[in-house]
This record gives sequence, structure tokens and C-alpha cells, in this order.
Amino acid sequence: MDKTAIKSNIERIFAQLNGSSAELIAVTKTRTVDEINYAIDCGVRHIGENRVQELLSKYDALHKEGLTIHLIGRLQTNKVKYIIDKVDLIHSVDSVRLAEEISKRAERIGKVQRILVEVNLGEEESKGGISAEDLPGFLDEISSYPGIAVCGLMCIPPIATESNGNFKYFLKLKQLSVDIKAKKLDNIDMSILSMGMSGDYEDAIRAGSTFIRVGRGIFGPRN
Ligand SMILES: *Cc1c(COP(=O)(O)O)cnc(C)c1O
Repeated sequence: MDKTAIKSNIERIFAQLNGSSAELIAVTKTRTVDEINYAIDCGVRHIGENRVQELLSKYDALHKEGLTIHLIGRLQTNKVKYIIDKVDLIHSVDSVRLAEEISKRAERIGKVQRILVEVNLGEEESKGGISAEDLPGFLDEISSYPGIAVCGLMCIPPIATESNGNFKYFLKLKQLSVDIKAKKLDNIDMSILSMGMSGDYEDAIRAGSTFIRVGRGIFGPRN
């Protein structure tokens, strides 16, 4: 996509976010370092990558000053060690084993890794995430790990078949976070809600998102 389009997309989204509680994460999977750095030069302060290998291949060349790097895709336990010193927030924690590995690796480098728990709201087998029902028990189990700080929740809702079809899922994630906050669990913070992508971020903002994750809406279609 040409750069003027990237710039105007970013400016449009910033204008939509104005006055809301949400910030923009530019989702950079499949994009070149040149495109990503251009987005950063246009004011993007958060980027999100899905794959460990892809993040590593771009990492050195990114304009990192003032940049926050998010890992938003599924993370395999055996890859945690490669990114633990590189990412600010991991959005996709959905197993005790993964939380344990992140905690262990973070402790080793003297870091407390900020994480989100991914919730599978549609109960879709093809997707990662903890079911809403299992969430309290899961949080209870991982809350004692010293190397992680749970900062909130993330979701990837089912593909919407109607416009505004995901609004109900976003409200549900918001309600889950409110319910958990009310329990005042030790070491569990619920200040972040990562929800909303190119096709539905306006609904996510209305439901109280604090991070929208937008790829195609900035950089155009992926090949
Ligand atoms: C790819 C991806 C996005 C962005 O999707 P777009 O439709 O390009 O906005 C957001 N979140 C996750 C987890 C993704 O994998």
C-alpha cells in the first residue's frame, strides 16, 4: 500500500479514538520493516506481531524509541525464551503451562512480564483462549506466579455474520473484567481490554476497549 494511504488511515483512526479510552496497536504481520517504521513515524506508538519468528526477523531494524511491542498471536511455550526480553505485553496467554514458562523466563532476566488472558467468548474450538466459565479458576491459578503481571483480558470474537455482530461479545468481555475486578484478586489487574480489529473496532471502542488491534485498516489487504 502506498504511504499516503497508510498515513491517512492512521490519522483517521487516531481521530476516531479521540476522546475514547482506547489506543491503537498497529498489527504488523506480513508488513515490511519499511512500512512499519513509516507507520511509527506517522505517530503509531504500539505495534503487534503474531509470530515469534517474524518479530525476531524485524526487531533490530524497528524504530524502537517510544515504541511498545505487543505479541498478539498464539505463543508456543518453547518460543517464550526468544521474545521475553523484547515484548512489553503478551496478549494471548491461555494455559497454565504457558503462564508458568513466561514467569520462569521473566524471572531469569529480572523482569515482570505483563500479560493478558485470552478469552474464547464464542467457545470456538479452532481458537485459543480460556472459556468465560473457566476464567476465575485460571486467574486464581496463575496469580501466584512471580514473573508475570496479569493486566487484563483479550478476545478474538467469532467472524461476525452481520454488522455490529461482535458488539455483544465486546460487552461480554467488558462485563467479565468488571466482575473480576470486583473480586479484588491479589496480583490481578483488569485495566486493559484488548478487543476490536479492522472490521469491528468501532463497536469495541463503544464497549470500552483500551487497545484496538488494526492491521488491514492501516496497511491494506494482506497477501
Ligand atoms: C491479524 C490480527 C489482527 C488484525 O486483523 P486485521 O483484520 O488486519 O485488522 C488483530 N488481532 C490479532 C490477534 C490478529 O492476529
